Amino acid sequence: MFEPTGSQRDAASAIFNLPDYRVLSAVDADGGVRRIEVETTAPPGCPVCGVLATRVHSVRRQRLRDLPVAGPVEVMWVKRRWFCDEYRCSRGTFSEVTDQVPAYARSTARLCQALVAAVVVSGRAASEVARAHRVSWWLVASMLGAAADLLADPDDVLVRRLGVDEHRYRSVRFFRQTDGSWRRYEPWMTTLVDADTGRVLGVVDGRDSAGVGAWLAARSQAWRDAVEVVAIDPSAAFRKALREHLPQAAVSVDAFHVVKLANDMVTAVRQRIVRDRKGRRGRGVDPAWANRRLLLRAGDTLSPRALARLKATLREDDPTDQIGAAWGVKEQLRRLLTSGSLAEAAEHRMRLGAFVLAANMPETDRLWATIDTWWDAIEVLIVTGATNARTEAANTGIKQIKRTGRGYRNPANYRARILLASAARTAA
Ligand SMILES: [Zn+2]
Repeated sequence: MFEPTGSQRDAASAIFNLPDYRVLSAVDADGGVRRIEVETTAPPGCPVCGVLATRVHSVRRQRLRDLPVAGPVEVMWVKRRWFCDEYRCSRGTFSEVTDQVPAYARSTARLCQALVAAVVVSGRAASEVARAHRVSWWLVASMLGAAADLLADPDDVLVRRLGVDEHRYRSVRFFRQTDGSWRRYEPWMTTLVDADTGRVLGVVDGRDSAGVGAWLAARSQAWRDAVEVVAIDPSAAFRKALREHLPQAAVSVDAFHVVKLANDMVTAVRQRIVRDRKGRRGRGVDPAWANRRLLLRAGDTLSPRALARLKATLREDDPTDQIGAAWGVKEQLRRLLTSGSLAEAAEHRMRLGAFVLAANMPETDRLWATIDTWWDAIEVLIVTGATNARTEAANTGIKQIKRTGRGYRNPANYRARILLASAARTAA
C-alpha cells in the first residue's frame, strides 16, 4: 500500500495533475478522447484589493488546450466570476486566474512548456510538434516567440568580447512589385554573440549599420562600456555602427573569415587558369579541380602523401606556377595569423608582401589590399586572440535550426528559435 504523504486529492484530480485545479467530471467521447471538466481550487483573491471572495457572480465554460494525459483530452474549465464584497474596493466583479492559465490565455502553461521544450531542446520542427500535440503551427510559433521574449535581458549580462556575424537565413528571392518590376530580396540576418560563452545575445534583420546600430543603441551605457573587443568579418558593412556605438572597443577581424578570403583567392586563380588554358570550367579530369579541396587545406596539416599529391597537381595543371603562387600567399597569410607577437606579425607581413609582389596577379593584389585596409584589426586579433570557435559553434547551431525549420519564411520565428536554442545550449 501507498502511505499518503500530503493532503489527499481525489483520484481523478491527482492523475490529471493540473496545479490549482480539480477534476469535476470525465466522460469518454469518440476516438478515445476524454472530456475533462475542471474548476480551480485556488482561493479567489480580488486582483485589486486581495480580499478573498465568497459570492459567485456567474459561471462560464472555457475550453483549454492542454497536454495529453494518458491519451488525448478535451479540457473544459468551469470558470467562475466572483463579487468583490470589500466595501472600499472599486472592483465590482472579477474572473478567476491561475498560474497555469493567466488572463486571456487559452492554453495551459504546462502545454506551452512542453511545446517549447520539444522544439528547442529536442530540436524538432515546429510543424511536427504542432501535429503531435494536435495544435496549430502558429500556436507553437507564437509560444516560441513569447518564450524568447522572456529570456534574460542582454543588458543583464556584461560582455567583454562581442562577436558580430552576418549570414543569409534563406536563399535569395525575387518579388514582383506593383509597377511590374522585380525586386531582389536578400534575407540577411546579423547575429550578436558573447564570444566568451557562445551565447547568442541578439539577432537583427539585415547586415548593414542600421540593424546592428539600433541593437547596440538599445543597450545600457554600462553594457556598452564593458565591451573591450568586437570580432567581425573583414567585409562587414556594419563597421560604422561599431564606431558610433562602441567607440572605445577594439575591432578585431575573425581569423576564420580572413582565411576564407585567402581560400576564395586561391579558388579564383585556379578557375581563371583552367578557363584560360582549356576554355571551359574545371571538371573531374583536371587534377587541379579534383584536388581543389586539397589546395584549401592548411599546408602544415598535410601528410607527406597529400603534399606529394599537391605538388603533382601543380606540376600538371599549373605550368605558369600561378596556382602555386596563390597557394604560397594563402599559406603565408595563415602563418601571419598565428603570430605570437606584433613584431612577429610585422615580419610575416613583410614576407607576405614579397610573396604578393612575386605572384604579380590581380587576385593576390586584391587580397593584399584587404589585409592592408584591415591591418589594425588584424593586430587586435593577434594581441587579444579574439577569434573564436564559439561564434562558429553558434553558427553551426543556427545552420541546424535552418535545417529543421526547412527555410524560415518569418524572420521573427527564426530569431526566436536561435535565441532559445542558444540559451538552452549555454545553460546545459
Ligand atoms: Zn476587491
